[in-house]
Amino acid sequence: MASLCSRLILRNSRRAFSYSAARCDLKKFPEPLELATGLEKKELLAHLAGNDDPFMMGSIKKRETTKDNPIIIPSAFDSRLIGCICEEEQTYVCWMWVHAGPPRRCECGYWFKLVEKTPITAQ
Ligand SMILES: [Zn+2]
Repeated sequence: MASLCSRLILRNSRRAFSYSAARCDLKKFPEPLELATGLEKKELLAHLAGNDDPFMMGSIKKRETTKDNPIIIPSAFDSRLIGCICEEEQTYVCWMWVHAGPPRRCECGYWFKLVEKTPITAQ
């Protein structure tokens, strides 16, 4: 009886592992670029082209500024929230909105100006 049961189990388990014509090629995983779509694909293509910050999310180094020579803030919108670490030892960030139009001055004296940037679209 036990051998009959084990034969049935083995026969049923063989059916579960049957092969078909639609086998996967397990030797190669697809590249992330092959799987990505939309904005993720645009971001990966920008990285391949050498642009490590396609959405302009990285920090901007401060330098001496004047109202005529402000720090440029790229944005695809009419305004952008920026954070300024006004002094080197400061433990908090001064947040402020920079709008399209004339440059805006932080309370520490640095000037910022919003400049329109073409947005990265999914298409
Ligand atoms: Zn500041």
